[in-house]
Amino acid sequence: MTASTAPSQLECCVWEMTLRCNLRCLHCGATAGRARSHELTTAEALRVADELTALPAGEVTLMGGELLLRSDWAQVAGRLRNGGVQLAVFTNGTLLTPGDIALLRRLTPRTIGVSLDGGNASVHDDVRGTRGAFERSWSTIEALRKADLRVAVITTLTRRNLYELPGITRLLAGRDIRWQVQVAGVGGERLARNDLLRPLEFYFAALTLARLRATFSWSALPLIGAHDFGYCSSRLPALGIPGQVWMGCDAGRNTLGIRSDGRVQPCLSLPEDSAIGDLRASSLTDLWGGSAIATWRAPVERHGYCRECSHGERCEGGCTGLAVSYSGRRGDNPMCLHYIERTQLRGNSSPQSLISSI
Ligand code: SF4
Ligand code: SF4
Repeated sequence: MTASTAPSQLECCVWEMTLRCNLRCLHCGATAGRARSHELTTAEALRVADELTALPAGEVTLMGGELLLRSDWAQVAGRLRNGGVQLAVFTNGTLLTPGDIALLRRLTPRTIGVSLDGGNASVHDDVRGTRGAFERSWSTIEALRKADLRVAVITTLTRRNLYELPGITRLLAGRDIRWQVQVAGVGGERLARNDLLRPLEFYFAALTLARLRATFSWSALPLIGAHDFGYCSSRLPALGIPGQVWMGCDAGRNTLGIRSDGRVQPCLSLPEDSAIGDLRASSLTDLWGGSAIATWRAPVERHGYCRECSHGERCEGGCTGLAVSYSGRRGDNPMCLHYIERTQLRGNSSPQSLISSI
């Protein structure tokens, strides 16, 4: 992406429709559980759907908390689809009924994301804070596949499930399920800072993903490292969507997030104080073209190693959510494969020998 303050196409909007959730996941950045006070009403949510259609937004991801705890989710989803907006739906997979599956078949979302944080019930239920979550989520994945719906599994890594990637691979390989692996950041109240990945553990995870990509064909295991998963490595292949080159963070540029009370953020991975406005006070079109978001489109001021980095102009410090989590500021990102290679894997030490010393 070339930095420009002019509004561009809104390619992806992630909309937290409610903060209510039946699980208590450790890594949840928004500490979901109870609904926010003053969540958008159905009439307000339908108006927002119309604004997204009018802008237009290319794709809207509906999520929670747990999306299915909002009784009007399908009404809002239908409004978006009727307006020609592509849809993705994220759920924890524990509440989906046959009726919901029938609704989803009519809505034809591009993908339905279901969270899976362990290759077995013991780890997944521990991370998700609820016994029985694994069995229910896995049954949902099977039911969605049986209904010919496209499923994507999303795994969020912390030190509590770092070694689960092989176990999850055994569940997913050969089933035509897309798998996105991402890294937990700070923000939520349930995850101890000590449970966040350290840089070398992050590198270990990247190495594991690279090994899995080399072992399995794309059709057998379509595995993707999410936005926050490493940049500009000189030793590992790119881990993102095949063919896509990392060109800097999309937050506020072609990506936007909406909180369930109508506040708008450049990305929902960012802390809530990044909000640039409120859909109860302003229209989406005004916010998307306004001055508050323009600062997100200007070139990022870089600090620390990112400041001197040879990839800095294009990369701009990687995922802003991760940079802010780990360093407290935009444009300063220690969770970067290139940074780790230059600062911790120098000399003759191979990634494997360093990792075995973790
Ligand atoms: S050190 Fe910073 S600018 Fe350089 S590649 Fe890593 S995240 Fe990007
Ligand atoms: S903050 Fe991270 S997750 Fe959000 S758009 Fe930027 S790179 Fe993507």
